[in-house]
This record gives sequence, C-alpha cells and structure tokens, in this order.
Amino acid sequence: MDDDIICAISTPPGVGGIAVARVSGRGAIELVDSVWRGKSLAGATTHSAHYGEIMAPDGDTLDTAVAVVFKGPKSFTGEDTVELSVHGSRYVQRELINVLVQAGCRPAGKGEFTRRAFANGRLDLASAEAVADMIASESKAAHVIAVRQLKGEYSNNIERLRSKIVDLTALLELELDFSEEDVEFASRKSLKESAEEVRGMLESLAGSFKAGNAIKNGVPVAIVGAPNAGKSTLLNALLAEDRALVSPISGTTRDTIEETLDIDGVLFRLIDTAGIRDTADTIEQMGIERALSKVGDASIVVLLIDPTRDEDSDTVAKYIEEKMARDARLITVVNKADLGIEMKGCEHALAISAKTGAGVETLKCALVDAARAGLPDESDMIVTNARHYASIVEALAATGRVIDGLDSGISGDFISQDLREVAHHLGTITGTITTTEILSTVFSRFCIGK
Ligand code: GDP
Repeated sequence: MDDDIICAISTPPGVGGIAVARVSGRGAIELVDSVWRGKSLAGATTHSAHYGEIMAPDGDTLDTAVAVVFKGPKSFTGEDTVELSVHGSRYVQRELINVLVQAGCRPAGKGEFTRRAFANGRLDLASAEAVADMIASESKAAHVIAVRQLKGEYSNNIERLRSKIVDLTALLELELDFSEEDVEFASRKSLKESAEEVRGMLESLAGSFKAGNAIKNGVPVAIVGAPNAGKSTLLNALLAEDRALVSPISGTTRDTIEETLDIDGVLFRLIDTAGIRDTADTIEQMGIERALSKVGDASIVVLLIDPTRDEDSDTVAKYIEEKMARDARLITVVNKADLGIEMKGCEHALAISAKTGAGVETLKCALVDAARAGLPDESDMIVTNARHYASIVEALAATGRVIDGLDSGISGDFISQDLREVAHHLGTITGTITTTEILSTVFSRFCIGK
C-alpha cells in the first residue's frame, strides 16, 4: 500500500470559521515543517498542538494556524499525520493545498485517509463504512447504529459467525484427509444443527435490513387519500412549510413528493401521493399507479379521509387494502375537523384539521409510535448497508446449499466448498477478504478529505 504524502481539506467546502487540512504519509510532519514558521513539528511529541504560521512560497505569511501532530501508528490513518487548522476563507483553503502540494505532497483521492486507515489495520471495512454512515447520519437512531458499527461491535459479531463456519470447514476437511479410514470427525447431525443456527442468524440479519434502511434513510410513510382530501395541506402542516402545491382543483399532485422529517429522533420519509380515484386521464392514471406502488413500499400508510366526500374514501380504502405491505401499519385520519362534519364508522380514526393544524401533533405521536413498533431493538444487530446485505443474501443461499447437501448426504468436499463460500461472503463484509473492486466501491462513496 502506498504511503506517499497526501493532503486535503477535511472540513466541508465553503467558508467557515476555521478549515482543517489533513496531511498524512511517511515524512508528512517534515513536509509541513518546510512550510511552517514556528517550533519544529518533527521535534514535537505526538498528539500535541502548536501555534505558528503557514508560509507562502515567496516567504510571506499565508495564515496563522494551529498544527496538531500525530505520529504513526497512533493516528487515524496509522501514518504520521498533521492536522492544520487555518482560517476558513476559500482563498486560504485553496492556497494551503497549493503550498502543501508544492512542498511535495499530492491531493488525496476520495476516502483515501480512511482507506489508509483500513490498509494499516486501524479500522475494519465495515467500521470504515460506518465512518461514511456517521457523517451522513441525520437522526439519533441512525447515529446510534453508525457509532456501534464504528466501534467494531458489528464486525465482531460477523467475525464470530465467520469463525464458526471456518471451524466447521476445518473439521470437514480434516475428515477428507482421513477419507481412506472412513472416520467422521464432524457428526452430520451436529453439523446440520450448526448450519441451521447460522442460517437463523443470517436470516435475522437479512430481515433487519428493511428496518435498518428505514432508520438510515427514513421510515417510508405514504399519505394517501382521494383527490382534495388534503394530502398536500397535511404534508405542509407536518413539515411546517409550503413544500407541496395546494389547490382546490382535483388531481393537482400528479407526481409523488418526498420529504424527510425528524420527529423525536426518528427520521421519516413522507411521501405525498397523487389522489386515488377512478379516472380516464392517462397522466393522472400514471400518478395513481405510482401512488399505489408507494403504498406497497411504505412501512406506514396514512389514509386521509375527506368527510365532505365520504363516498370517495371507500374506493381509496379498497385500493390500499390490496397494495399495502403485510407488515405495514395503517393510520386512518379524518381531515377537515374544522368543518365539524360527523362521520359514521370513523369514531376510532384520528380527527385533524390539516388547515388549522389541530390534531397534527397527535398524528406525529401516532407516527412515532407506529415507527417504533416496527423498528428492532436498539441492542439488536442491524444491517443498514446495501453491500453487506448483498453479501448476507449470498451467504444465506450458500448456507441453504450446505443444509440441503447434509440432508441428501452428499460428499463432504461439496459441503466444505459451500461452507467456504459462506465464510467468503461474510469475510467481504468486514474486509477479511477484499478485492481492489470491493475497496474501490466502498471508498468511492466517500468525499475527498475523509
Ligand atoms: P390533496 O389533493 O389531497 O393534496 O388536497 P389539498 O391539500 O390540495 O387540499 C384540497 C383542498 O382542501 C384545498 O382547498 C385545501 O385548502 C382544503 N383543505 C385541506 N385541509 C383542510 C382542512 O383541514 N380543513 C378545511 N376546511 N379545508 C382543508
């Protein structure tokens, strides 16, 4: 792995109070010294901060700065690293990188600092990915998962599962070495029990992905109802801003609108859909089709009933019943409570007025309750990463083959091949097994400076 010196601004692009540049690689501290006016950084102790000046190539002062020195291997990347805090003007940031590059380092690629941390054994792959998740987390729940993954708990669990498989494989392969003697080191019964246990664990991991995705990207909530039920008005009331187009003409919301909203630490993805009704208009019909497919993807469906148009609600309810996912939750809401219209058969529904805001807070509580009921315990192991999910699905398929193979009594070498495959797929999650392709995919998701 390369250890040439790389540099980048690690704070977000744009103007800020301060900006931080990271310089990492063999000789990074000496390189910064060559543009540094102040106490020698190479002579400084590790994890110490120093005030000084960055010199422009002509010897003028570019900026005053604070340099924090980290000596490898005890740094984020595992290499000698200097973090330079300068004033956050765009000019200073750009010039600082120029000065450093002229002194002999190169601009870092996407995620290159984290990639080095991985290469130097400072982080496993899943933990490195958690760095990206941590940076992207938008709610408390997503943050909690990212922290756990970052600290390695998640990887340890996957590794434990993997070593279980490796042990089983070893046992089987030992048996193959002694095949002449017809011994059985691994009883088929206990092998099958172990394989079934692994399958159970993999299944629950795969099952956690939907929930994990909901935590990371927001619990999908479809707001559905007949045209003019007040869906857009409700979305605006929930978001407390004028995002969706409100109009008294039927069929205004022809496409779907998505917004994220944090309520009590739970992130929601609110989807305002086209009003559902029987229509001859093809464009409107397309919107309705899309609305119905969103209903199928939603974890929570808010059915909004218009008390002034009671008859339309039945059509909508019928469509929803057909499309809603089995494990989704339905919240029935009667809108336009301000009009004071009594509705028979809806005594248990939540009465709100999207227009005046009455009852909207109660609806928010109902959303949080419904979301929490559908989410796993915080202590459960949750898969949030699509790459991990794909590996788990592969591992699950191979485990299925192991179990089938044991059932049909096929020879040990086929079984050990499938077991190896399970171990391989689990290994790609934590990075025990990597390819350049996996690494490039993972780190291309990062920004420069991370
Ligand atoms: P959508 O087609 O379901 O998105 O409905 P809109 O949000 O565009 O609202 C349709 C009409 O109903 C508009 O004229 C709104 O002002 C009106 N409306 C929405 N919510 C309420 C409410 O709570 N009370 C009353 N009185 N009118 C409402």
